[in-house]
Amino acid sequence: MNWHQMHSNEVIDELGSSTHGLSSEDALKRLEEYGPNELKEKEKKTAFAMFLDQFKDLMIIILIAAALISGFIGELSDTITIIVIVILNAVIGFMQEYRAEKAMVALKKMAAAFATVIRNGVHERIRASLLVPGDIVILEAGMIVSADMRVIESSQLKVEEAALTGESIPVEKQTKALPDESLPIGDRKNMAYKGTFITYGRGTGIVTATAMNTELGKIATMLQDEEEVKTPLQKRLLSFGQKIAVAVLAICAIVFGIGVMRGEPPMLMLLTAISLAVAAIPEALPAVITISLALGANKLVKQNVLIRKLAAVETLGSVTYICSDKTGTLTVNKMTVEKVYVDGTLSGINDQGLKISDMQSPLSDPKSLLFTALALNNDAQTDASGNTIGDPTEVALYKTASENGFTKEKTENKFPRIAEIPFDADRKCMTTFHSISSDLSGSSPESEDSVISFTKGAVENIIERSADIITSQGLKHIDSEKIESMNKRMAAEGLRVLCIAMKKWKRLPDDKSYENVESELTILGLVGMIDPPREEAREAVSLCKTAGIKPVMITGDHPITAMAIAQRLGIIEEGSKAVITGRELDQYTFEEFEDRVDHISVYARVAPEQKLKIVKALQDRGHFVAMTGDGVNDAPALKRADIGVAMGITGTDVSKEAAHMILLDDNFATIVKAVREGRKIYDNIRKFIKYLLTTNSGEVWTLFLAPLAGLPIPLLPIHILWINLVTDGLPALALSLEPAEGNVMSRPPRHPKESIFSHGLGIHALWVGLLMGGIVLSVQAWSINTGHSHWQTMVFTVLCLTQLGHVLAIRSEKESLFTIGLFSNKYLLGAVVLTFLLQMATIYVPYLNHIFKTEPLTPSELFITLVLSSVVFFAVEIEKLIKRRKDRVK
Ligand code: ATP
Repeated sequence: MNWHQMHSNEVIDELGSSTHGLSSEDALKRLEEYGPNELKEKEKKTAFAMFLDQFKDLMIIILIAAALISGFIGELSDTITIIVIVILNAVIGFMQEYRAEKAMVALKKMAAAFATVIRNGVHERIRASLLVPGDIVILEAGMIVSADMRVIESSQLKVEEAALTGESIPVEKQTKALPDESLPIGDRKNMAYKGTFITYGRGTGIVTATAMNTELGKIATMLQDEEEVKTPLQKRLLSFGQKIAVAVLAICAIVFGIGVMRGEPPMLMLLTAISLAVAAIPEALPAVITISLALGANKLVKQNVLIRKLAAVETLGSVTYICSDKTGTLTVNKMTVEKVYVDGTLSGINDQGLKISDMQSPLSDPKSLLFTALALNNDAQTDASGNTIGDPTEVALYKTASENGFTKEKTENKFPRIAEIPFDADRKCMTTFHSISSDLSGSSPESEDSVISFTKGAVENIIERSADIITSQGLKHIDSEKIESMNKRMAAEGLRVLCIAMKKWKRLPDDKSYENVESELTILGLVGMIDPPREEAREAVSLCKTAGIKPVMITGDHPITAMAIAQRLGIIEEGSKAVITGRELDQYTFEEFEDRVDHISVYARVAPEQKLKIVKALQDRGHFVAMTGDGVNDAPALKRADIGVAMGITGTDVSKEAAHMILLDDNFATIVKAVREGRKIYDNIRKFIKYLLTTNSGEVWTLFLAPLAGLPIPLLPIHILWINLVTDGLPALALSLEPAEGNVMSRPPRHPKESIFSHGLGIHALWVGLLMGGIVLSVQAWSINTGHSHWQTMVFTVLCLTQLGHVLAIRSEKESLFTIGLFSNKYLLGAVVLTFLLQMATIYVPYLNHIFKTEPLTPSELFITLVLSSVVFFAVEIEKLIKRRKDRVK
């Protein structure tokens, strides 16, 4: 028998569970039996395979082959040295990739889904991977269903099953058994399947299958081959690398040809040319970008940002607009009720006038009715340790009711909830139905009403749907203007105002559509809550402005509340007209809206769907948009935004799935921190590329120009490979740890399409490389002409040490090293010192002299070498000085 054919209680019995859920011990036992609720992933590359991959590069293979051949016909020690250096290079590459891989795995783990289950009779939030058959799972709008389950309770539960059935219209779920044995999955309306998501309503399910036994698991093999997506920078570097490779290979061929024509040994020339190719082709660049981004993403976690798409790290620095939700992101999301308007009077929550004298007949006077409504029309819960949990708005109202003597438990005992229309951000209200026993009918004992419904929500929406208002003198026809002006008065103080209403029914209506239920209501009163702005958000807003980023507030709240908060945060000035409501937004054509979008800073009473229109309009105007969101309906806007930002605490699974990054603390200031970190990471990638390309260009110029200048081959293959190893290794890596430049957040955002070679990077690599080559060849020419037999050691050392001077000079784009301080990147300083010592060792350790074919330099030779090695450092410092001067003139 299939699960869908059974009754709910049969399913529960069959799975050995109960409505109180499994016990912890039973769950643990089942976990051992069934294994974790995870889809099997494709086999990961082993560490050894990753190491071997480092040798897959064609040039490396050719180099090793050539070294082996030359070893057999000549000196074996050279061959060994070359192979050792190549292996060391591979080790560095491997270690970086391994760290990046680890960082990515850690990120993925952190993004894992959670589920709320009932175990031992209480609600518990667990990792979705710990679900076992028999678990009772709570289902709520916005969740991704974590396992296959039989629905045992459904309150308008709607599930989108496109992942399994291809049908994108949500299916409403029910609990009754379905007799047809061969129902297709899409028609099993009492089942919810792993990987589908809940778009509306609430419910409960009992897990029937987990992991690979789920319907999704059965087709999972099809989903596993997820292609690795390259970031825009990686794509650009890949094609750049290919072009450079062709150019370098051509130069190597020329170097080889000229050398042989001039009578150098062909084998030596072949090794030289290939070593140069290995050293100068930046084949590892795209991989290095991944590494920097992955490690950057890992660092961002410490700042409470979880990156879901690696490209986001790279593009963060280009953000020009941050569109942020108000509640919880710009405010603390801790609501407290401050004011209540009931029976024609506005009172502070602690005012005596609000206190209730007669507690006997909860449905008899306006105040009691209002508090009864707050207690009943409420989804907050008290957990096992006595804390109130739930949406902060709900929690605030729950507490207010309970502090005035209307605890939810007691009140619900008298008026049990029998049906509901859940809250949704489009309608901006929610309704619950409660049965009334005849002795509690209160004001109208003769009435036959057996059901009462309470509705609460946005004031305008409720007024439109109301007919009268309750006062101590009885029902009165509603005076909309009076309530509207009271609403505005409360909103102007920054309060979120909700309107509470009711309706009595003879019996529970069959037609529970909101059009039918939420109409002809009787207003009970208004409740105003404060949700203070976050302290740090104010600072972050002003930081955005200096960084050329426009902060925009998007909220479902009333425009006056929104403006009050936006002013306190500095998003708008007092009296600003940069505010628009969702209704106005709808009245504009898309083109009209596009014309105005640049001038709007606050969007109020916006429905989540409208966020998409905002993103599109901004993007059409050439902006690069970060957009926050937490609900199911926010997903399209998050996907469309350049950086979709989901909320880690309050966000639904669906919004997280659609986002590029997740804020673990839901805080606006964290987005700005992430932008800063993103700009820094990009800056450092640029520095890394600048360093690598300049080093390579220096090596190429040296070997290319030497024969043209009539000089013998300046360097041996081992020298080239050594320089490549020591300079591309530690110093290059340490550049990625460079702290942020002083101006990261006081300069405008980088254009997303900006070339990596902009701001003079390409020209720098060319001229500094040429300068390096020039210095090295001058040393060579001078020392040969003056009869220094150690000329090759000098050339080798100058070329190596020049790189160290260069790396120190490019630590900042414009600032002098003397301003930023030698010690502000200790890793780099350490790497430079270590590389210097290693180079000295190749000159002065006799054993290494033999391997590197070097000779100890005399003190005067060493002095000349050191002085000439520092020329590039000073030249680049002068380049930066000129840049600073130019900036000042601007
Ligand atoms: P933001 O988009 O900044 O998070 P928000 O939280 O105010 O703003 P929503 O949660 O979509 O946006 O709420 C929109 C409106 O719906 C609120 O202004 C309020 O009037 C009403 N509302 C919010 N929560 C509830 C609730 N629990 N019950 C009834 N109405 C609510």
